[in-house]
Amino acid sequence: MNVVSEATLRKTVTIPACENHEGIYSVDVEIDWICPVCGQPRGEVKKGLSYDGSLRLVVDTWQNPCGHIDKYADVRREAQKKQ
Ligand SMILES: [Zn+2]
Repeated sequence: MNVVSEATLRKTVTIPACENHEGIYSVDVEIDWICPVCGQPRGEVKKGLSYDGSLRLVVDTWQNPCGHIDKYADVRREAQKKQ
């Protein structure tokens, strides 16, 4: 039986836990790896840095091939909705 399909592809990514992460507050979230705007697959995950204005935090970043930008605030909301 095929239990894994492209339609249900999910990924776990590390993102800032809040807007002012102070360089330490990150959270792992599992989300559908699909752009919520157009339904195309999200881009390749790379390690990057998030600035909260004064401190840096290592997080996962990605650029969607479709050009839509995933804001971390939206990704947090999406992850909460699914749990
Ligand atoms: Zn898109």
